[in-house]
Amino acid sequence: MKVNTYSEIWNLDVFFPKGSDSDELQKFIVQTEESIKGFEAKVNNWTPLNSVEDSQFLQELLRDLEEAAKKLTHAGAFIGCLLAQNTKDKKAYSLDAKITSLGAVFQTAIGSLDHHFTTIDDSVWGQLVATEPLKEFSFVLTESREKAKEKLSKEEEALISTLEVDGYHSWGQLYDLIVSKIKVPFSENDEEQQLSVGQAFNKFSNPDREIRAAIFKNWEQAWGNQADILAKTLNHLAGFRLSVYQKRGWGDVLQEPLSINRMEKVTLETMWSVISQHKQKLVNYLERKAKLLGLKKLSWFDLDAPYGKTETKVPYQEGAHFIEQNFALFGEKLAAFTKNAFEERWIEAEDRPGKAPGGFCTYLPENEQSRIFMTYSGTPSNVSTLAHELGHAFHSYAMREVPFLNCNYAMNVAETASTFAEMIVADAAVKNAKDEEEKLVLLDDKIQRTVALLMNIHARFLFETSFYEERKVGTVTADRISELMLAAQKEAYCDALEEYHPLFWASKLHFFITDVPFYNFPYTFGYLFSLGIYAQALEEGKGYEEKYMALLRDTASMKVEDLAQKHLQVDLTQKDFWEKAVGTCLADIDEFLELTEKK
Ligand SMILES: [Zn+2]
Repeated sequence: MKVNTYSEIWNLDVFFPKGSDSDELQKFIVQTEESIKGFEAKVNNWTPLNSVEDSQFLQELLRDLEEAAKKLTHAGAFIGCLLAQNTKDKKAYSLDAKITSLGAVFQTAIGSLDHHFTTIDDSVWGQLVATEPLKEFSFVLTESREKAKEKLSKEEEALISTLEVDGYHSWGQLYDLIVSKIKVPFSENDEEQQLSVGQAFNKFSNPDREIRAAIFKNWEQAWGNQADILAKTLNHLAGFRLSVYQKRGWGDVLQEPLSINRMEKVTLETMWSVISQHKQKLVNYLERKAKLLGLKKLSWFDLDAPYGKTETKVPYQEGAHFIEQNFALFGEKLAAFTKNAFEERWIEAEDRPGKAPGGFCTYLPENEQSRIFMTYSGTPSNVSTLAHELGHAFHSYAMREVPFLNCNYAMNVAETASTFAEMIVADAAVKNAKDEEEKLVLLDDKIQRTVALLMNIHARFLFETSFYEERKVGTVTADRISELMLAAQKEAYCDALEEYHPLFWASKLHFFITDVPFYNFPYTFGYLFSLGIYAQALEEGKGYEEKYMALLRDTASMKVEDLAQKHLQVDLTQKDFWEKAVGTCLADIDEFLELTEKK
């Protein structure tokens, strides 16, 4: 079979030629600034009439808002690509700082607009958002208005935003600074190396247990050395957040994350309760894995260990072809879209020094194109990552005709299309495995992800819940924080591990992110939500693509409960959907247990 040869280097010149030296980019940033300033001035000069006659001016404001948002997103995404492809691009850093400050101005202006909304009476508001063409935006506009109502006065919120720079976000930045200086010692071939946190972390997926155990010991110690400073950081970050919540009269720390993710608390509770009911099967897997590794119980540092020692290498062209082939079995649109993305060089995959770690997909709205960034070195998980990011790009593609204001989807649904795409490829890989050994390796890889999402993320959620309760009363010491983490891990893993990672609260960046609180449960939600959709797709076959794309188009203009009701005819506050989704993951475990029965 003929395999196409695709470039492994992306094309950024279609947006702006010459990267961070581009004059066109400079001009574009100036235009972006003008758009934002223009919008800001209009918002500040607006005094709502508090009648349906506001409709005219509001339409104008929304047009300006959309224009500025698109430009800012476009410039930000482009500069993000520059920084990722070359971490030493100094010009790109200064452009990035410019975009960040423009973003802050824009956010403040949006805050003022939302505040204007609160001055309009409920009855007038109802009429306003029922008129054309505002009707299309009724969900997002009403959501902004409701959120603004739950906040303090305009002046007080402006003051909070100002104080956040040094009193809140800076704690998150301090964390990054401390982490960048941490070195984890590691000896290999009698040579002592000083590894960065990222390098050390990669050793946890080493097939050699001695290496994993050795790095884990030094890993815990390295974080332990910084525990006091990191505990202080975490306490102040959480303390700031809690003070703001208290002033706004928000009693529940979950209020903000749930509202950001457009979901009900009962949905979250139902999800966790279904997961907890099915933990035994996960424990069976962990026990079997321990047995296969010749251990009584697994330790924390065994969780990412691969099954077996076979290393399969998949060259880029082969990986790309495999993805194309299997996407085609799902739907024509996904297949055609993917082919185009490869041909038009939307993907940066080359394995070379100087690139940023990790992978992402970003959308450049002015050209209606996405760009995918990753480093492809030929591991099977690289193929999954590539499929994953293509899924994100397809989500943007499905939404390309949706007005930009209705494209701002939350994190819990952001992973729908990516997980879906990854599942197509992962299942195909298991099905096409050349022998039982390879099949087990691939199944194990899938199950590890399930364990991470249903146990590890659960531990993070339990930890944050208990940590915030104690932080409300006062400062929590480093030792106490570690105790809370240990308790959360034991509960989430049902006591199935030999050793835990009490300093996980220090080593996990997610606890220090200030943009979004509780940066954990949306992962699990997204994973299971996607699996539920995937299960339906398998039942219904090829014709499902239209339905699937219709769901994707609505991901940013509905509450998740309504989205699921409309497109999947399921009630997320009830157990059925979650049972089915969890069942999909557990089927992999059944297969794994059966295949390894006699080993
Ligand atoms: Zn993703």
